[in-house]
Amino acid sequence: MCIMIEIAVVGGGPAGSHCAYCLAASSLYPVIFDHTHPREKPCGGLVTPFAQRLFPFLKKLPIKHGEKSKLHLISPSGRQARLSTRKSKIRTFSRLKFDQFLVNMAVDKGAELIKEKVIALGRRKDFWEVETTRQSYRVKILIGADGVNSLVRRSTIGPLSKMDKGVCCGYLVRGLEKEDITIRFLAHRKGYMWVIPRDDHTSLGIGACEASRSYGLRRELDMFIEQQYPHAEIISKWTALIPNVKNSKTLKIPLAGHNWILIGDAAGHVSPTSGEGIMYALLDGELAAQAVVENNPETYNEFWKEAYGTSLFIDVKLRKVLYTRPGLELYCKFLKLQNTLHF
Ligand SMILES: Cc1cc2nc3c(=O)[nH]c(=O)nc-3n(C[C@H](O)[C@H](O)[C@H](O)COP(=O)(O)OP(=O)(O)OC[C@H]3O[C@@H](n4cnc5c(N)ncnc54)[C@H](O)[C@@H]3O)c2cc1C
Repeated sequence: MCIMIEIAVVGGGPAGSHCAYCLAASSLYPVIFDHTHPREKPCGGLVTPFAQRLFPFLKKLPIKHGEKSKLHLISPSGRQARLSTRKSKIRTFSRLKFDQFLVNMAVDKGAELIKEKVIALGRRKDFWEVETTRQSYRVKILIGADGVNSLVRRSTIGPLSKMDKGVCCGYLVRGLEKEDITIRFLAHRKGYMWVIPRDDHTSLGIGACEASRSYGLRRELDMFIEQQYPHAEIISKWTALIPNVKNSKTLKIPLAGHNWILIGDAAGHVSPTSGEGIMYALLDGELAAQAVVENNPETYNEFWKEAYGTSLFIDVKLRKVLYTRPGLELYCKFLKLQNTLHF
């Protein structure tokens, strides 16, 4: 038997959950497919003051989190810059608690969470055939919020290319919660290492912007931990991919059709310079819901470009200049002259 669904969101991360919440708030009650909750997504979990200004609910989330007002940046040659936030603090979240809270918010508003993995999609003229590990569904509007290796993306515009992904690995550790947030830029990886303390543990990782620069990634991180944080107690270990768009043509591919939309990591919407993606996931969730509420999913293509398209395009260009040894040295020199983070 085939179950009929008006709107299905594949993926209950920040993009999918927030989209489902916004739809339900407009009296359109979607289904979210996600088999993974509760789970800790490999992530820094850092939410900037700028993102908090855009989404004030992030300042009031009733879940335990870290709050930091200092950011410590280190250039490839060891030049150090210590910056303070001006008004609000940087918040750092465990993705287990953060994502669980967002998905619960959507369910409380009226969305339904079906804990099934989508394993196949068939595109018909006016609907989608969605097959999960348990059942088949017939869906009128499909929203792909299923992350960097999105099945919805593969079934519509094709996968994000290998070139447009970055490779990361790291640990959740205990014992560094009092440290400042630290970013150590690595010119040879075109990436960075991070230490992001949360409330009762810390995300510690290393990311290379390209797979071709990921050889020996974990070894380099282990040496860094041994030298800088020998007392860190490792709780878990992970490896992950992150969208890291290097080709601005990728951002020109339409991300919505008459009955489908791609959002968040599935859309490739992560800052290629900083790796920030939670803010874009929330923005996309809201914009996709708006397009569906207006009964015109395709308008999402204009909505996201109007909202932040230019800054993402600039970010793609900036990445090329920034992630060179002189670029990173100059950037850290510039930041050293500032005392304040202006975002
Ligand atoms: C190592 C690392 C560090 C990061 N640090 C930060 C940071 O500090 N700050 C920041 O802003 N961003 C950070 N990011 C980026 C951020 O994690 C993502 O941009 C953000 O999670 C995107 O949200 P999303 O909902 O689009 O995707 P995701 O959070 O990836 O959620 C996708 C969901 O879809 C589900 N799913 C996938 N396939 C299927 C399927 N077939 N059927 C059903 N469900 C499916 C998954 O289980 C998952 O729950 C980091 C990313 C990585 C990899």
